[in-house]
Amino acid sequence: MNLAATETMATGPMAVIVPILYIIAFGLFIYGLSGLTGPRTAVRGNLIAAVGMGLAVVATLLLVQTNWILIIVGLVVGTVLGVPAARNVKMTQMPQMVALFNGVGGGAVALIAWAEFRATDGFVDTALYVVIASMFAAIVGSISFWGSLIAFGKLQEMLPGRPIGLGRAQQPINMGLLALAVVAAVVAGLGGAGEIWVIAVLVLAAVVGVLVVLPIGGADMPVVISLLNAMTGLSAAAAGLALDNTAMIVAGMIVGASGSILTNQMAVAMNRTIPAIVAGGFGGTASLPGADDGVERTVRSTSESDAAIQMAYASQVIVVPGYGMAVAQAQHAVKDMAKLLESKGVEVKYAIHPVAGRMPGHMNVLLAEADVPYDALKEMDDINGEFSRTDVTLVIGANDVTNPAARNDPSSAIYGMPILNVDESRNVIVLKRSMGSGFAGIDNPLFYGQNTSMLFGDAKKSVAGVTEGLKAL
Ligand code: NDP
Repeated sequence: MNLAATETMATGPMAVIVPILYIIAFGLFIYGLSGLTGPRTAVRGNLIAAVGMGLAVVATLLLVQTNWILIIVGLVVGTVLGVPAARNVKMTQMPQMVALFNGVGGGAVALIAWAEFRATDGFVDTALYVVIASMFAAIVGSISFWGSLIAFGKLQEMLPGRPIGLGRAQQPINMGLLALAVVAAVVAGLGGAGEIWVIAVLVLAAVVGVLVVLPIGGADMPVVISLLNAMTGLSAAAAGLALDNTAMIVAGMIVGASGSILTNQMAVAMNRTIPAIVAGGFGGTASLPGADDGVERTVRSTSESDAAIQMAYASQVIVVPGYGMAVAQAQHAVKDMAKLLESKGVEVKYAIHPVAGRMPGHMNVLLAEADVPYDALKEMDDINGEFSRTDVTLVIGANDVTNPAARNDPSSAIYGMPILNVDESRNVIVLKRSMGSGFAGIDNPLFYGQNTSMLFGDAKKSVAGVTEGLKAL
């Protein structure tokens, strides 16, 4: 059977009902997506888009009318694996979950391309656009699947987070393998070629996916996950074109377009270009804390009650949340502390770095959950000028996004990444458990600054202790 043109198989009333259901589903996708622009409407937006996807699945079942058993088995397997995984995932593990689910989408698309090759007996008498779209889907889907698996492995700490690369040979090897994948795709697309050619396309693209993501260092990971997500969307749209399925084209293009915009915005926020990231990123030369570089460093530690006194007499306190606040689930404690400070006449603002935490908008979501007023959250560019006028900056489990080496040490692995200029504050109090490094695996000179004190411990416990200290004043 030719998988292409399944949509045109609809006959009788289905020829009318299916397109109507699809159009309603597309409307719901777009309306749902518009809800994702703010944390308050995001949950509803997600639900609306999910209803749209449910409708699209029903429409597709009506359309296909054969192979229902296989499709239902697939739906059951997906539900049994996906629902508990999504329900049980911790907020801090969300990025690897996104990477994994996204990768599965890319893998499915690559398999569709292979199935299309088989269904047409190797693209015999097949329209050129179907061949091109299928081979595009095979290459991009396979890169996305394997690249996402490597990203998952790095984020889950099953693979080392530091860059693993082949040095200068990396780019020529990647480009050479990609060119070979394209050649294999052309041979496979000529019509009547053996199946080995389509397998070669998938395998070569898989190696490209692995080799592209392995050398990517910690701080670039968010951009890469977003890029892979956009690629999965584009490959799904291409598979939709090959199968003549409007739902796949529209859903794939929405993911591809929104993913591309997000990737671009994140790259701009990180002061990076996408080619530079793909060519091997931040985190190349990790200098770990305590590295024996002969430099004597001293760290000043403080107590919860001293931190409380310092903040109670400040006119402005800026809170800088990071991944550690998410790990400690300290957002409600932070909100309580801020309320108390405000009752004492202290102005409290929150400085939000675009890649703080482990997913875009991570800090916004956590603070919104704790009912922190949205207008108290300040974007990096809006708040950076204020640190030098601020009495106390309270860094809660943030590390890389405050690292001044990114600004003034050209040898640093994160040099050039925009950061929150926390070190310019009159006083900085850093809440973390140890002198351990953050995601990029590098030391942070902020911790040794003259104006910095460290409050060691779990962030939630430390914030609660500071709040007790404030009450006692
Ligand atoms: P970092 O990963 O740089 O630092 C987090 C710090 O939190 C650690 O140094 C850790 O120190 C501390 N911490 C962990 N648990 C606790 C706890 N229970 N209580 C107190 N402190 C704790 O986080 P940032 O938010 O500063 O930076 C984000 C990094 O993650 C960037 O490098 C970014 O590129 C990367 N990234 C971002 C993604 C995104 O989309 N936002 C996705 C993937 C990666 P200690 O162990 O000493 O407590």
